Amino acid sequence: MIADLIARYDQRVPRYTSYPTAPHFAADVTVAHYRQWLAELESKDPISLYLHVPFCREMCWYCGCNTRATRRHRPIAAYHQRLLAEIDLTASALPDRMTASHIHFGGGSPNMLTPDEFNAVMARLRNSFNLTEGAEIAVEIDPRTTTDAFIDSCAASGVTRLSLGVQDLNAAVQKAVNRIQPFESIARIADRAKHQGVTDVNIDLMYGLPGQTVENILTTIDKALTLEPTRIALFGYAHVPWMKPHMRLIDDSALPDAAARWKQAAVAKERLAAHGYVAVGMDHFARPDTPLAQAAAAQTLRRNFQGYTTDTATTLLGFGASSIGQTPRGYVQNDADVRRWSKAVDAGKFAIVKGRETNADDHMRRDIIEQLMCNMTVDAEAVAARHGFGPSSIWDSLDALGPMVADGLVVVDGPVVSMTEQGAPLVRAAAAAFDRYLAHNDAQSPRHARAV
Ligand code: SF4
Repeated sequence: MIADLIARYDQRVPRYTSYPTAPHFAADVTVAHYRQWLAELESKDPISLYLHVPFCREMCWYCGCNTRATRRHRPIAAYHQRLLAEIDLTASALPDRMTASHIHFGGGSPNMLTPDEFNAVMARLRNSFNLTEGAEIAVEIDPRTTTDAFIDSCAASGVTRLSLGVQDLNAAVQKAVNRIQPFESIARIADRAKHQGVTDVNIDLMYGLPGQTVENILTTIDKALTLEPTRIALFGYAHVPWMKPHMRLIDDSALPDAAARWKQAAVAKERLAAHGYVAVGMDHFARPDTPLAQAAAAQTLRRNFQGYTTDTATTLLGFGASSIGQTPRGYVQNDADVRRWSKAVDAGKFAIVKGRETNADDHMRRDIIEQLMCNMTVDAEAVAARHGFGPSSIWDSLDALGPMVADGLVVVDGPVVSMTEQGAPLVRAAAAAFDRYLAHNDAQSPRHARAV
């Protein structure tokens, strides 16, 4: 039965961290659009900030991020200077000094910045924006290359959460993905963070890696939870070597098949629940006393480019190569090429190369998809009505869910769509029914990860 379902729904579908999704961004959105959209913002609206640091010490072979390996600091120091310049450029394009409620440093490995460089970026952000009381400031770090001094500078700069890349603690799996990382080194960083007062710690884990078994996933979870993280993100490895050539270094004959991946995800979820972590959306888990778990319980959870979040801002300002920004008018994306991004910033220009202006239909579908991805249920008609659309606007989408309903993965009760317990891991496939841009044959598009 499971094998049948996987065969039917293991399609390549977006992760829906935005709608329309990034493959549908186009070059007809330009710097002029971005300047106009920034100028239209209202200073009272809270914003979020995302800063991308596309450098790592070496490549993990499973990595799907926009990053590159370097052992020299000079390009990172130059990048850091340009980040400061891009912050100034953006702040000067805003109508007023704005207030940020969430800041996220991603990558790559933001800890490739020196402590002084990180402090300087934080100081520049505080100089350019107000921060709300209790603003969430999160930093992704690679425990292998993070120093105590970097953790200390995070704490001193007001960072509220550190996100540790762990993935799997089994030595053979670590070797198979070129990420050798003893547990002790991770524990040392987690302890240092707590000692410095950064008690909100996320740990990233993965299933579907080469050579991974249910047993070593469970061992990894048990060990990782001894570090008392506030939340866990559990992602399935997406093997797309035609998009990320370093993935060719992975022995694909050692990759678990779809049925094994399904089982790995299921047992991992059970084990996390047994440890008292509640499921948040499709791939996050959090201690019940965290704002993230509370938002999930209250059905106020949101989803953005960083995954599940409590962030309600409608504007996200992106900094750094490849970063994506969002305003109420649409999405913009910076050039992913560091050299071209640098050239634009050096010339005092934004490095926007593509984006997507959004319309009322996009906003309606984005809300439906987001609610389904966050709450596993949505009253699609009520959302459509809030956006001024009648019930007929969603009939095609409800019809498209027919096969998932017949397979017991989705319940459609009038306009209310709900994932069943068995269907929850396939929520992206259900969300795709509301995606107007996802052409039928896009379901096999290599640009997206498999649904399972
Ligand atoms: S440390 Fe993170 S961002 Fe860098 S290569 Fe590894 S997985 Fe990718």
